[in-house]
Amino acid sequence: MIGTRLAPTISPDTQFFWDGLRDHTILIQQCSDCGTRRFPPRPMCFSCQSLKWETVTAAGTGTVHSFVMPQYPPLPFFEYPYIVALIDLDEGVRLVSNLTDVAPDDVHIGMPVTAYFTTFDTLDKEELVLHQFRPTAAAVGD
Ligand code: ZN
Repeated sequence: MIGTRLAPTISPDTQFFWDGLRDHTILIQQCSDCGTRRFPPRPMCFSCQSLKWETVTAAGTGTVHSFVMPQYPPLPFFEYPYIVALIDLDEGVRLVSNLTDVAPDDVHIGMPVTAYFTTFDTLDKEELVLHQFRPTAAAVGD
């Protein structure tokens, strides 16, 4: 385990997502009526207002949509450089995550990335599994 993170707020609507991360899977909501996928989790389909949904397991591959490197104020439990990125998953949803194993100068929009999972301690000493991303090229040895 490395680092410490603030515990996420887990609601009945998002429980499945955090449970999925614990199993090292990224689960995406998909409307059972029209098939529209959505993230972050919410009870109702924004496309057809259906309350029926199922999950699909993301392949864990996507591309960088945008990224920022927050530097101030430094948080003691983050490792720097700390890159926050919006990732477009191949399943068609966008999520916010961290980008690691890449120099900040080498990050670019559209860069292929692959998910992996890291277990953190929360401040309450619970285990928290989070999805992280790194360049796909690095994952296969360039
Ligand atoms: Zn729908």
